[in-house]
Amino acid sequence: MTTATVNLTWRNWAGNQTSVAAAVARPTSTDEVAEIVRAARATGGTIKPAGSGHSFTAAAATTGTRLDLSGLAGIVDADPASKLVRVRAGTPLHVLNSELARRGLAMPNLGDIAVQTISGALATGTHGTGRAYGCLSTFVAELEVVTGTGEVVRCSPSVEPDLFAAALVGVGAVGVVTEVTLRTTDAFILHADERATPLADVLASIDERVATNDHFEFYWFPYTERTLIKANNRVSVDDRPRNRFSAWFNEDLMENTALGTVVRLARAVPAWTPTLMRTTARLVSPRNYTERSDLVFTSPRRVRFVEMEYGLPREALSEAFAALRKIIDTLPDRIAFPVEVRFTAADDIWLSHGYGRDNVYIAIHQFVGMPYERYFRAFESACAALGGRPHWGKMHWRTAADLRPAYPRFDDFLAVRDRVDPDRVFANDYTRQVFGD
Ligand SMILES: Cc1cc2nc3c(=O)[nH]c(=O)nc-3n(C[C@H](O)[C@H](O)[C@H](O)COP(=O)(O)OP(=O)(O)OC[C@H]3O[C@@H](n4cnc5c(N)ncnc54)[C@H](O)[C@@H]3O)c2cc1C
Repeated sequence: MTTATVNLTWRNWAGNQTSVAAAVARPTSTDEVAEIVRAARATGGTIKPAGSGHSFTAAAATTGTRLDLSGLAGIVDADPASKLVRVRAGTPLHVLNSELARRGLAMPNLGDIAVQTISGALATGTHGTGRAYGCLSTFVAELEVVTGTGEVVRCSPSVEPDLFAAALVGVGAVGVVTEVTLRTTDAFILHADERATPLADVLASIDERVATNDHFEFYWFPYTERTLIKANNRVSVDDRPRNRFSAWFNEDLMENTALGTVVRLARAVPAWTPTLMRTTARLVSPRNYTERSDLVFTSPRRVRFVEMEYGLPREALSEAFAALRKIIDTLPDRIAFPVEVRFTAADDIWLSHGYGRDNVYIAIHQFVGMPYERYFRAFESACAALGGRPHWGKMHWRTAADLRPAYPRFDDFLAVRDRVDPDRVFANDYTRQVFGD
């Protein structure tokens, strides 16, 4: 293990959160993590595991000891028969995806990017889209956790089930996850079908589109009646490979370089934003290809933005969307980023945004350096009234008092936390905001 007093300053990907740690520790084993936790507890200190810094909230910020988990990475064991894969907590998703592919396996579903660590992604309820799929934590069979008292516990639905239910989406507050056992699936090919579609058509046929595609989502361009729809479906043959030029053209040039230019122009001259959004929406070109699943689900994001995302009961989509349109139409600030809408299945994880209900997720963004607070706050208040639950890793202003009614098992979570972290070794300003202490 190395403990250092260099690189104390931490900054997240979006650049909207910074913190200065008292020390940084880089454990290379579970026992070392346990030792660090016990030492911190004995001196009244705090610890925060940091993933890849891809949360927009201050979930990973700390003034105590930051745990750099890069020394706890890689696959421990992959059983081809059961497809259960044990992976160390600090493994980045893109490494996990490649290692799984080498073994003929895959994650059943993924979000939009693959740079997060597996434990960071699980901790905040990271999700993709698909009517039959919950967040990534629903693919977990077992966790190894170092609790706030320095105990190492392996938990699952049958062993320490309460700790398991709490730590699956634990917001970094009930322990350091050191190892994850994932229920993976056979590797599969996705057929990606992306095209521009009028917003009214998408909204009128949304239930059918979600029901008849494995993974459906859409992006709406503010100030327009246009969307980009994405339908990814499992197929048995990889017969429409994307050539390198097309991948570069769409992902690098269109989704990153061109988008970067558009949002920079919008930031320089906000009044142009509606015209720029209309032009961008018109430039959307259809794409139709097959590829390895993780390479379809995820893509690079080089344009920096801030984001808020709300999980809402599926039936609240039209009301939430109408509220969003009204906010954008009446705000003095201009919104220079598309809105992303995704769908997930209900699960039973206590702090999952999908606890007990099928969700629609509405994600709103703003280019860094452009005003976002009025926009985000207005949408937050519309979503809160509709039973919305904020993504734990994306910006929001909710506190313990108003989150409690949104999560039926909130107090059960707090009871586990009291038991396994009585001295609040894992506390930071964010846990104080969302859990009350
Ligand atoms: C460009 C971009 C795209 C994104 N796309 C999606 C998406 O498609 N879907 C989605 O749902 N989200 C998405 N997110 C959000 C992102 O998935 C989450 O914020 C995720 O938590 C980030 O993982 P990380 O490894 O960077 O963790 P960090 O942000 O570094 O940490 C997040 C939390 O996890 C805790 N943590 C980390 N490791 C451990 C551990 N070993 N044990 C216990 N707690 C731990 C930290 O303490 C912190 O509380 C996106 C974010 C960005 C910036």
